[in-house]
Amino acid sequence: MSLPIRTLPITEHWDCQGCAICCRGTIFTLSGADLARLREQAWEKRPDFQGVKILQSHGLFKKTYSLAKRKDGTCVFLGEKGLCRIHAEFGFDAKPLVCRMAPLQLVPLDTFAYLTARRYCPQAAAGEGRPIAEHLGRYRKMAEEKVPPLQPATLPPITRRCRRPWKDVHRVADAIERLMLDERYPLVRRLVHGLEFCDYLDQCQLHRLDAGKFAELVPVLEEASVEGAAALFASRMPPRRASGGIFRQVVLEYLRLHPRFVIEASWAERWRLVRAAVAFSRGKGPVPYIHGCFPATTFAKLEEPLGHIGEDVLGPINAYFEAAAASKQYAVLNKPGWALTEGFRDLALSFPVAMWLLRLARGDQQPQAQDAIDTVGALDRGQAYAGLSGYRHRQRVSALGKNHQLARLISWYAR
Ligand code: SF4
Repeated sequence: MSLPIRTLPITEHWDCQGCAICCRGTIFTLSGADLARLREQAWEKRPDFQGVKILQSHGLFKKTYSLAKRKDGTCVFLGEKGLCRIHAEFGFDAKPLVCRMAPLQLVPLDTFAYLTARRYCPQAAAGEGRPIAEHLGRYRKMAEEKVPPLQPATLPPITRRCRRPWKDVHRVADAIERLMLDERYPLVRRLVHGLEFCDYLDQCQLHRLDAGKFAELVPVLEEASVEGAAALFASRMPPRRASGGIFRQVVLEYLRLHPRFVIEASWAERWRLVRAAVAFSRGKGPVPYIHGCFPATTFAKLEEPLGHIGEDVLGPINAYFEAAAASKQYAVLNKPGWALTEGFRDLALSFPVAMWLLRLARGDQQPQAQDAIDTVGALDRGQAYAGLSGYRHRQRVSALGKNHQLARLISWYAR
């Protein structure tokens, strides 16, 4: 039996405007039923699909498949006028389930799944359209088609050293949700509260506690994390040099996913990215050319304060982090084996990335609402990107989690 589906405890909005951005640069993993449906459609027999690869495989041993992309990053089935060829020729129901559900996604927990919006969609990122609850009936029907049915998530460890039952995972994730939705503080403070909370959890011998003691401990740590964070904002320090280098490597991963940056599958482009990776590690001199839409700048300039940012820019960024915390997706999606505290640190790391990308996008100008929507699109695409969920990235998050470097990055780039 499939899991029951709910909307988030906070309100998200979305309605499709048919811009087809979800068909550009987004990675959708196909199910066995999707692959069978595509085989039945026999695209290889059409003259315009002769020699065209329609599937892309991922992984060495346990292979997964997504729809192939053209050189410019668009889906191989995206037709003229921005219409899906599968939809146009066989109807909406013939499309892969994940495309029909996009940009909403299911986040399975233990006894239910949340239906939440992916914010690579500009409408969802801007919070425009009807509340997601109004789409629930239609999406419940689509979810019933899932083969095999939607299953509970794998129980994530709370810290690297401690695995406890779902009841305790919920206690911790609910505490993080409360910290992240606490409107008495700006987002930057809430993220640091969440990091402090995770650090306290890591320092405790959680595996030695019985259920009662654990239940008593969580609210104590939650309260202490708010008090402990104040000192970090008294004087904002830049990250240490090594941490800055690691951070810019993470930025470069997200930059590949930026809606304005299309990577062509060519050796010249790969070589350009290798050279960019070296320059990003050093973090000195001019930022290498990324795309014509990003103004030329230097790494030093990107360390300067952003100054005042309007509510129209902050709104989509705040909403992205609040929804990620409320859905608990950082703990259960796309990072097998990661502990809940590691997943939250990774989510928190994407905040200074967002601030860096805003600086890059605007040069000397103040960021606009569209810059924030594009930035949120890049963060959201990072969820399903292998470069941001593998061993190497886990090591980066772990290295930055030490000695308050993550909190320093957050407070430094929030200026
Ligand atoms: S990105 Fe959003 S608005 Fe654009 S076509 Fe996809 S779902 Fe519709």
